[in-house]
Amino acid sequence: MTAKNLTQQESFDIKAKRIRMILSDVDGVLTDGTIAIDHQGNESKRFSTADGYGIRLWFQAGYSFGLITGRRSECVLHRAKDLGINMVRLGTFAKREAVEEIANEQHLSLEQIAYIGDDLPDLPAIEAVGLGVTVPDAPEELKNAADYITKRCGGYGAVRDLINILLTLNNSVFVLK
Ligand SMILES: [Mg+2]
Repeated sequence: MTAKNLTQQESFDIKAKRIRMILSDVDGVLTDGTIAIDHQGNESKRFSTADGYGIRLWFQAGYSFGLITGRRSECVLHRAKDLGINMVRLGTFAKREAVEEIANEQHLSLEQIAYIGDDLPDLPAIEAVGLGVTVPDAPEELKNAADYITKRCGGYGAVRDLINILLTLNNSVFVLK
């Protein structure tokens, strides 16, 4: 079968089955994009436990997960530690470059990486990787470029949605041991 004859679903499945690592933006993907700041300037974010459980399942299946975010928030480090994520890039607006660096470090090709982001700084990374993913309320440019638009919004299980699809395609076990 030539690439031309593949249906959209078949070509998605081929791309998705190559994925070994998910790199995720934080604000608007793992959160709903809001940031709470108290009177002392302390920042807090709300994370979905459904995403958290999904990331644990993803690790258990033997895959990698990392975070790339433009902001420098202590709370991201706490959440990452909670979930055993040690690949974390804070204060990184050049997301595509960060994705390429991580791919090199991890000896993976860009085809083996899925990137999920919700806004324009994420677009170059979405275009560069094997599986570009965005959320339902992202700008049109991202939705046009993405291979997959999650059904759930950022902060409400968007990452879990992506992980469920990838694990199902790879016949991975769904129960956390
Ligand atoms: Mg974002």
